[in-house]
Amino acid sequence: MPIDYNLLKVSIDLQAIQANYRFLSSRGKRLIAVIKSDAYGHGLIPVGEALAAVGADFFAVGTVEEAARLRPAVRGTVLALLGPQSVEDIQIVAEQGILPLVARLDQLAGLEREAARLGRQIPIALKFDTGMARLGFAAADVEAVARALGKMRLLRPEWLISHLATADEPHQAEFVHEQAARFQRIADRLALAGHHPQRSLVNSGGLLAFPELAWNAQRPGIALYGANPFHGTDLAPLGRELRPAMQVQAPVLAVHALPKGASISYGRTYVADMDKTVAIVAAGYADNYSRGLSNKGWMLIRSQRAKILGRVCMQLTAVDVTEIAGVAPGDAAVLLGEQDGQAITPEELASWWGTITYEVFCLLGMNRREYATS
Ligand SMILES: *Cc1c(COP(=O)(O)O)cnc(C)c1O
Repeated sequence: MPIDYNLLKVSIDLQAIQANYRFLSSRGKRLIAVIKSDAYGHGLIPVGEALAAVGADFFAVGTVEEAARLRPAVRGTVLALLGPQSVEDIQIVAEQGILPLVARLDQLAGLEREAARLGRQIPIALKFDTGMARLGFAAADVEAVARALGKMRLLRPEWLISHLATADEPHQAEFVHEQAARFQRIADRLALAGHHPQRSLVNSGGLLAFPELAWNAQRPGIALYGANPFHGTDLAPLGRELRPAMQVQAPVLAVHALPKGASISYGRTYVADMDKTVAIVAAGYADNYSRGLSNKGWMLIRSQRAKILGRVCMQLTAVDVTEIAGVAPGDAAVLLGEQDGQAITPEELASWWGTITYEVFCLLGMNRREYATS
């Protein structure tokens, strides 16, 4: 849960997400909009509704509970990627018309029992592992799955799904093709057993870089939120049109001198090498602004870059504003996103943080959010 009385504010530009959806639609065939984990911190319902308004009719979320929250807000298909994990989940799937991604035989059996109890069919999606080695039936299980489905006449396998491990790493394209070949073989063996589900393999990176692997639907997540999966690689131009949707800011609470030789913050990890002016910003690790940014990250104040000095604290972070004229309490410090034409990009923030844009969005998005129009 967010600490909704803290001063840091996340603002989400839904029009940017809609523009990204349109762009990705122009590159793909049929999109499954991946809005799991609260739409990567951008807000499950607002993002779901904004995407529905521009034509999205197929959504992927995480848990069955997340699917049940989204279900009344959108038309079309809601896929629960984590699948049913309890008897209650199975009932929710059946009652609310959620498409469950199924990765185990016991889930098939539970769903078949529920279908029999209700006296009607339940559509399902099958997850096969082709190289992530997380969830999913193994390729070696194809015949067992096909046999089980042969007996479970009330389950209707509509989709066959697998997930790529290296789609956003151009130097590992070979593994993408290996996974695609395994996926094709699994589909072929299911077809031999009389099952012809539609197929979906690719995520954002795969959609942009491997159009030949589009099959029936593509599943972009991160690109919807405007991060370029190919940032820093030769393929970066593929994501050039994506527009980040999240902006994060917090107010400056104090501005003061830090004379040459003085230290700042816990542990005295920064000592001024000349007379400095510092601004103290109301953001810290309690707002999920990582302590790992200590002495590494930057913010924007008065549309100029200000470097973090010393350790990030629980609710406060100090930045260097020596070269920025007129900084005063109440000024907005931008931690992520644009300010008057300047920007801290998600990719930069992630690199200072030592992580990926996905984690930056999920963590900062847990704070109080407001919805802006661009
Ligand atoms: C999260 C997820 C996606 C989206 O991946 P991105 O890299 O964000 O585009 C697609 N498919 C599955 C199964 C996922 O879990």
